[in-house]
Amino acid sequence: MSSPTASAVDDLPLTGESLALDLVNTTFIRGGARGVLVDALHEPADLDRWLRTRLADFGEPLRRLLDGPSGVEATQGHLDRYRELRAALRDLAATTVDGTAPQPATVAAVNAAARLSAGWLELDPDRPGSSVPRWTEPDLRLAALGEIAAAAVALFAGPSAAQVRACPAPGCILYFVKSHSRREWCTSICGNRVRVARHTRRHREPAPGQVGA
Ligand SMILES: [Zn+2]
Repeated sequence: MSSPTASAVDDLPLTGESLALDLVNTTFIRGGARGVLVDALHEPADLDRWLRTRLADFGEPLRRLLDGPSGVEATQGHLDRYRELRAALRDLAATTVDGTAPQPATVAAVNAAARLSAGWLELDPDRPGSSVPRWTEPDLRLAALGEIAAAAVALFAGPSAAQVRACPAPGCILYFVKSHSRREWCTSICGNRVRVARHTRRHREPAPGQVGA
């Protein structure tokens, strides 16, 4: 289940946000304002690679599936479903930041995915005193997709929605939750890039008050 080739999943500029925003942020621009658009979820193996980076956020069955030595690998169909949800979540993040209403199709896509997360706890027949999570959806990658959509509902319909931000750096398309009052950028890389650009501009052009002085 591992891909030996390099993957942009190992090189994501921002992780550790809500699962929902982490999925959105698997598309990013590498190289700043004149950079290139990168889709870290380029092929099915990238999806499993990305899911493995977020195992702590998913339940035990998915952990077993993805961490095991062998198993069924992600398919193009799985990848398409994740990309569809990602597009809907990017729209939802954008309208949340703008304070506008999302398209009905966006809401429907997120809600349809959220239903895949339906689950419950059962008593574990093998370990007395323990419980084991079960899902309605038998395909565990789709159950995980459901968990991401459920995380999106909790984020965009919860108190943190007002703190969702689009990184204001030119050429950046990442979203984050403003986790503390001084956080302005997705990462310090964007903050530094903007500061350097401002500094360069200041030293290239005379300030308005200095013209003709
Ligand atoms: Zn940024």
